[in-house]
Formats: sequence, structure tokens, C-alpha cells
Amino acid sequence: MRVNEMSPAARAIRGSVCPHDCPSTCALEVEVLDGARIGRVHGAKANSYTAGVICEKVGRYAERIHHPDRLTRPLLRDGPKGAGQFRAISWDEALDRIAERFLAAAARFGSEAVWPYYYAGTMGLVMRDGINRLRHVMRYSRQKKTICTASAEAGWIAGTGRFVGPDPREMAQADLIVVWGGNPVATQVNVMTHIARARQGRDAKLVVVDCYRSGTAAVADFFLCLRPGTDAALACAVMHCAFRDGHADRDYLRRSTDFPADLEAHLADRGPAWAAAITGLSVDAIEEFARLYNTTKRAYIRLGYGFTRSRNGSAAMHAVTCLPAVTGAWAHEGGGAFWSNRAGYHWNKTMIEGLDALDKSSREIDMCRIGAALLGDAEALKDGPPVAAMLIQNTNPAVVAPDSTRVRRGLAREDLFTAVHEQFLTETARYADVVLPATMFLEHDDLYQAGGHSHLQIGPKLIEPPGECRSNHEVVQALARRLGAQHPGFEMSAMELANWTLQASGWPDAAVVLERRWVDAALPFREAHFLDGFGTPDKKFHFAPDWSKVGSDWKRMARLPDQLAITEAATKDKPFRLVTAPARRFLNTTFTETPGSRAREKRPTVLIHPEDADRLGLADGDRATLGNERGAVVVHARRFDGLLPGTVVVEGIWPGRDFEGGLGINALVGDDPIPPFGGGAFHDTAVWLRSDGGPTR
Ligand code: SF4
Repeated sequence: MRVNEMSPAARAIRGSVCPHDCPSTCALEVEVLDGARIGRVHGAKANSYTAGVICEKVGRYAERIHHPDRLTRPLLRDGPKGAGQFRAISWDEALDRIAERFLAAAARFGSEAVWPYYYAGTMGLVMRDGINRLRHVMRYSRQKKTICTASAEAGWIAGTGRFVGPDPREMAQADLIVVWGGNPVATQVNVMTHIARARQGRDAKLVVVDCYRSGTAAVADFFLCLRPGTDAALACAVMHCAFRDGHADRDYLRRSTDFPADLEAHLADRGPAWAAAITGLSVDAIEEFARLYNTTKRAYIRLGYGFTRSRNGSAAMHAVTCLPAVTGAWAHEGGGAFWSNRAGYHWNKTMIEGLDALDKSSREIDMCRIGAALLGDAEALKDGPPVAAMLIQNTNPAVVAPDSTRVRRGLAREDLFTAVHEQFLTETARYADVVLPATMFLEHDDLYQAGGHSHLQIGPKLIEPPGECRSNHEVVQALARRLGAQHPGFEMSAMELANWTLQASGWPDAAVVLERRWVDAALPFREAHFLDGFGTPDKKFHFAPDWSKVGSDWKRMARLPDQLAITEAATKDKPFRLVTAPARRFLNTTFTETPGSRAREKRPTVLIHPEDADRLGLADGDRATLGNERGAVVVHARRFDGLLPGTVVVEGIWPGRDFEGGLGINALVGDDPIPPFGGGAFHDTAVWLRSDGGPTR
């Protein structure tokens, strides 16, 4: 029987929430077929942010959730680490083995020798963050969460003091929208809905600032294509023009910012000609953008993550947030800048994360430095014991972490015990001693916030998982029992944890949220626009932040917004700057297993300017090797005039096995932290590039 021939009773539409690592956190409507399988997934039209639009990869989620390669039984390693040889075992045996090894590691080296490791494979608060309850109760090593948002957070908080901003739906009221360092067409499609409203309703202009002509840049009115890591120079030049041309809002500056006495003089030396030499933009383009931005009060900057994943990324984020402070655009409807709304939810996560058991003196290891930590680097280990045992949930560090060759060497250590709880046999799972099969979002209950808008939602369990899959929460509960970990959160169901958290945070209870589908936690206009003060102690925006309050590596920061020359510079031997941008049909390594996404993304490809390609003798489809002191990977070339000579882009975190030689693109990326707080410099890599002869596949 085909789907459209099913009786209405057999084909129900049920509400859910997209759990993936994307600021859109779309409200979903899922076709549930016969109570057991799903059909198409749609965006909820009634949700004012999702507005009926979701990305195509989630639209065809049936491909992923009913994939024949789902893990369905616990597995025990039965061959060399990384070889992917396993035999099925029972849940009891798997959990007993994990508990035994965790207890043994703690007995030998102390509890900090166990390092639970996780990230954002699901964004549900219960399933993502519950691993921290086990960590804190057992006093295992903490994880410094640097791999995604850290560099952006540091730059944002330095000036504004709070993770909120003008409602993204206000983009429809803007006259100018600047998408800076992001590609929402690929990574949060709903942004484009709200931009389209402004373009249709107000004839608003869309400007994109990026280092290659992404899908978003391709539909912009004005695309500023700069060199990677030079965004702060452009921001400084725009501010220079604002002061030079009389567009700085001096009342706003005096009233709402720290307005340092030397700011204007500092910017006087940083005009369009200075910025053109750094960014690769023309003086005319900078002047045109500056005039457009500085003369538009309803100018909404939608900040992406991409430009912050550079060694000077926190400084760049801060510099860009300074623009609306100079023009006063923060104060206007449709104006200001937006990065995340996360502080608007004021969560009490005590029960989910076991925060009442947190010992802040316990060791914290930087997750971006997992390779160094596993290989015994004393600094990465904070001079503490080795990492002897790990539980990994919701992430695939063998592929996504920087310097991934070293990560794999670390995971291959025979004296390291690793349990990986996953949906597919990822490359990280292949290194595991024990693999546990994990549920997907439609197979468990969870609570969600959105960073890119203001709705909190509950995604209820809609179908049974395949085989013996268990949720993250169930695994943490079962391990807690075996380890003797005691906390009331281990006794609750996932929905009870969601309900407790909602009520303790001042929101309606879970039953009400489920009935309403979502609660809009949008801030009042004055608060979202910082009209009653920014989140800093003196309530002013800070052009000259106290970076020592933001991160320990503050001495490398400049006092005033500036271009920091701390990127991995191109050299004669490594003349290209590599950007590892997101692919539209993947989300990090998620969806790299679904046939529809793979077919559309085709294969790992380097975008290279035709001038560079000519010099290297590269035609479309030719093999090319990218390399540096960390490793080398083989890709295929595509000539592309949407970037500057000297910049190369590889989209998507393809699994290593999709490259000849088995190493992924992050084998080339360094793991040294971004100042002042840390972060992965994924788009800040110098490489050499060589033609490897003609086309192969
Ligand atoms: S746009 Fe983002 S949140 Fe929405 S369905 Fe796609 S991945 Fe999920």
C-alpha cells in the first residue's frame, strides 16, 4: 500500500521539533505511518519563525531514521581499534563492562581519568546535557565546550554582555540586512524566509559578507568577498567612514556605550584603503557598503559562526558588534545585530546536568584538544592524570575535531577504554571498545530551546526505536545505577526532567507546552534592543572590553576593535588559505549517511579560483592534494570564480573514508585555541595544493 492510499487513521500528522545542531530548531509536522514509521517531514506553518519552511535534508528524514545501517544492538570490539570489527552482546554485558572499566580507571588514576565527551548531535536539553549529571556526580573530568560557539560567544559577550538581541522576525522590518560570515541558505534556511519578507515588503537590500560566494551570497544584492580572517578590518573601515562622514550617532555613543576617548583617533588610521589591502576588497566596495550601512538605521546584522572560526574570530565578532553601537542602529526596530537568543530562556538545568554536584575544582579539558589530551600532552591534560576511559555521546570527534589525525591516534590507544553511544557506526564508533545503539529524536521525549529564535518546545516520542536502541538518558541512568551515582535526576523519566526544568525555570509545565506546541520566550522590544542597558556591569556597550573577564588568553586581544594579525598566514610553501565551510545537505557529519544527501553533495571537492587553477594546471574534476605539516588529503577540483585567488574552500565534513587515504578535512586544521576563551579555528588553515594529474573517478 502506498503512503497516499493509507487510511487517515494509519497516517497521522504529529508535532515535533528538529533536534539538529542548527539555530533554526524548526517546529515540525511529521507524517507517522501505521504508528511505526514516518513519511515526509514538514515545517509547522503556525510557528511564526519556522513559517512552514524546513531544509530538504530533514524533509526526507525517513531516509535517515529508517536507514538499514542504523545500529540496533550493543557491540563489543572483536578486532584492532578502528577496524570496525565487532560482535553483538547484551545490554547488561555492555553496561557492566563500561562500569567496570570506569571504576577501574578511577581506582587507578583518580576519577578525573574518566572523561565523558559529548556535543550537539542532538540539541535536546535532556538527551544532550544529561551526561553532565553523571560527570558531576562522579567527579569525572569536565569538558570545556569550545568546538562550535566559544569564539563567537567571547566576541559577542565582550561588547554586549548578554546573549540576546533583536527578535529575528524583525528582519522583516529592516531596510538593510547584512548576513555576516554565515550561509543560512545551507545552515538555517528560515533566515531566508524573514529576509524575503523584508525584500518584498520594504524593498530591503541584502548584503552578504563572506569569503566565498555561498548559496546566500549568490542571492544577495551586494556580496563582499573578502579574504578569510579579515572581517575585523572591514568592520573598522565601516566605523572609520561613519565618523569621517558624520554618520556616527554621538548621542547614542555617549548615552549607551563606553565611547573611549581614543576610539575615533584609533579608527582614523583604519580607513577603506587600509582595509582594502587586508581584505582584498576594493576601496569602492568598502565605501559603498559603509555608505549603505551607516545611512540605514533599520540595518539588521545577522551574524554567522563562520567568520569566528579563525584565530582572530572573537576579535572579529566583537568588531562587527561595534557597528550598530557607532550608528545607534541597536535602538531601532529592524536594526541592531543578532547572534543568539539563548539567555532569554533562563533555564534552571540543575536536575538535567546535576549542577548541585558540580565541583568547579575538577579538571576541565578543552574538547578541541582531544587529540593532544588523548596523546598525553601535559598542558591539554592540565598536568593531571591520563584519560583512561571515555563515554562519547552525540559527536564524532575522529572526524569533526581539529587535528583529526592525532585524535585518531589517541582513540587507537590500547590502554584507553572507549564506549560510544551512536546511531550509526561512525568513524569514532569504529575505535570503540563498546558501541551502544542510540535512539533518534522521534524515538524519545526531549525539551528544546532555539538559539536562532525564541521558541521553547517539546518533541515527544512518536515511534518505537528499531532493535534495542536506547536513549542517552536511559544509558546515563543505567550506568549511574552500576557506578553507585546518586542524584534525583537519575530517577526521573526524560519527560519528568523536561517538566521539572520548565517549572523550575518559570515556564508552563510540560503538559501545557505539549498542548500549545511551543512557548514564545521573546523578550520585550526594549530589552531585546538593550534600550534599558546592555548586559555589562555598567549597562553600556563596550568598545574597549575587559578581555581578562572573557578568557584567560586575554593578553593577545587588542584594547579597541582591530584586525589581529594572528591567523595562520599563507607562506611561499603554503600559499593557500583553506576554509572548511558547511555543506547544504550535511550537518557536520550527520546526514553523511543518507543516500539523498550523498547523491546531491557528490564527493569532497575543493573550490579554487580559475587563476590559481590555471597556474597549477587544474581542470574541473582533477585530483588535487591539499596539505600542510598536519597531514594531506586528496580532493577533486572545481574551478570557481566566487572567491579570491589564494582562498580555497572544501564544503562539508565528509567522513574520512570518503577521501583517498581515509583522513577527513579536519586532519589539516590546527587545535591551538582561539583567544581569549578558546575555540576551533576551522576556517583558518594555510595549505599547499598540488595537482595530482587528471580526473580519476
Ligand atoms: S533548517 Fe535546521 S532546524 Fe530546520 S529542519 Fe533543517 S536542520 Fe532542522
